[in-house]
Amino acid sequence: MHELSVALGIVKAALKRVKRGRVVEVQVAIGELTHINAEQLRFAFEIASRGTALEGAELKTRIVEAELRCVRCRTRGKSFTCGRCGSAMEVLSGEELLLERLKVVEDAPR
Ligand SMILES: [Zn+2]
Repeated sequence: MHELSVALGIVKAALKRVKRGRVVEVQVAIGELTHINAEQLRFAFEIASRGTALEGAELKTRIVEAELRCVRCRTRGKSFTCGRCGSAMEVLSGEELLLERLKVVEDAPR
């Protein structure tokens, strides 16, 4: 399952940033071209975060639309071949997978 390795990557990256406290919310930007299923990613994240400072955190996802540009005539579109001149298209956005935001809380004093 592709999503599980992605989720493990998110957990690892988040733990690197969080030195103390507990993460209650994680926001990631997912490019359309990664074909990551947000629902499956949330499920995988729940498993991947167990026993870490991220356990129980809410995973929010923001889908980044794909945008490609023709290398020759600069026409923009969503396919990998230019609809106008048939040349190859380069990816401007849609391949990203970014950890955008973490909401951390200090553990309540007992
Ligand atoms: Zn073109």
